[in-house]
Amino acid sequence: DPAIVWFRRDLRLSDQAALAAAASDGPVIPVYILDDDTPKHRKMGAASRWWLHQSLQSLDASLGAKGLRLILRRGESAAMLADIVRTTGAASIHALRHYEPWWRNAERAVREELGEDCPLELHDGNYLMPPGSVTTGQGEPYKIYTPFWRALNEHMPPPEPSRTPQKIAAPERWPDSDDLGGWDLLPTQPNWATGFAEAWTPGEAGARVKVDAFIDEATGYDASRNLPSIEGTSRLSPHLHFGEVSPSTVWHRVTGRGRDVTTFCKEIAWRDYAQNAVLQFPQYGAESYREQFADFPWRDAPEELACWQRGETGYPIVDAGMRELWATGWMHNRVRMIAASFLVKHLLIDWREGERWFWDTLVDADYGSNATNWQWVAGTGVDSNMFVRIMAPLSQSEKFDAGDYIRKWVPELADLDDPYVHDPEDHGCKPGDYPAKIIGHREARQRALDAYAEIKG
Ligand code: FAD
Repeated sequence: DPAIVWFRRDLRLSDQAALAAAASDGPVIPVYILDDDTPKHRKMGAASRWWLHQSLQSLDASLGAKGLRLILRRGESAAMLADIVRTTGAASIHALRHYEPWWRNAERAVREELGEDCPLELHDGNYLMPPGSVTTGQGEPYKIYTPFWRALNEHMPPPEPSRTPQKIAAPERWPDSDDLGGWDLLPTQPNWATGFAEAWTPGEAGARVKVDAFIDEATGYDASRNLPSIEGTSRLSPHLHFGEVSPSTVWHRVTGRGRDVTTFCKEIAWRDYAQNAVLQFPQYGAESYREQFADFPWRDAPEELACWQRGETGYPIVDAGMRELWATGWMHNRVRMIAASFLVKHLLIDWREGERWFWDTLVDADYGSNATNWQWVAGTGVDSNMFVRIMAPLSQSEKFDAGDYIRKWVPELADLDDPYVHDPEDHGCKPGDYPAKIIGHREARQRALDAYAEIKG
């Protein structure tokens, strides 16, 4: 009997334990299900959908080269899988584990629907260590990153990645499949994704190219990763999010030359940490962890939110980041921190508004990583920066030498040299259409401290 491989955020053939297990049993039916309607199943954002379209095309092509097809269905996972089981006589379903609360609900629903007749077998492989498995001496999950990293690192390196099974048998007949084009994952008019296509090649082959390119750069990572004006980071985040490459593969390729790449490995471990947080607090993307923030006087300021989203705050580093995000679906990590802090502390807008915007616009939008980082910046999270540590965007911009980055993404400022480009207003320049600061830094800082004093008292 055939076995189903239920692909989710693991759109690859190599180091794919679900595929390997299914292939060793007999014929394989690869399936991807898009669920936009189940309550509490978080709908993928627009940038992710753009990515998904290409990644599914790429996966289908790789499967095609092995004589297989990717079956596409749209709807509730358990119902769709049950239908495929009925029409194909599949005897088991294999999938990699995911920790978003809606995926765990979906797994429960599949088990209820299909029971022992067609068991759901879950495998590890999208994290360095299975989330939940790195615990304290007392068997408790870690809440804070640094001890988590130390404990995780004890188990490193991760298992060697496995190869794609050489031969995979096809079933005698294929179930019906949707047509990918009919899913309307790509933007219509206006097509906001032209810059995405220049920046990215979604899919397993594209991920491999990015890993190869980064291996040579990895030793400079410590020095360059905070500088947005250069390509000092791997840009693997969307590939890792969609599982086009496994973290174990990245780890082994990057550490393979015996160099010290600890700083980079610690960043990969942040992915694991974020999923551990989601496993402990499934609502992490929806609610502040620190209860005191339930009463925080967030401002309802839709026009200012829109200025932030459009990159028109009058703070060049923030605006450059928000425009890079809109144009490419990605933003440099240092700038994500500055832009997020600006929304939460300078504008006093609830971090969840920012989380939602990132969810819709990032190609690497990830429930766990997005929530963990937003809550960290906002000071509402489990492992937190304090709310009262307020980042000064203009000095951050100078410190991390963001001049070229600003000139690239904010054309109104393209002719300004350093140091003027970091803070044109303060230097008395009024370049063309560039907006005035939405609020002064000192004023914003004081307002944020006063707001925090309200909930502290
Ligand atoms: P590199 O520096 O090359 O790091 C390698 C990999 O490590 C990344 O691809 C990523 O998978 C992981 N990683 C690095 N830093 C982090 C981190 N702080 N948290 C979790 N994983 C990390 N990352 C996402 O993948 N999805 C998100 O939705 C997301 N939202 C964020 C929101 C905010 C407010 C902030 C401040 C950060 C967010 N990040 C998110 C983390 C980080 O900014 C990106 O992972 C990173 O910029 C991706 O670029 P890179 O692949 O070149 O990273």
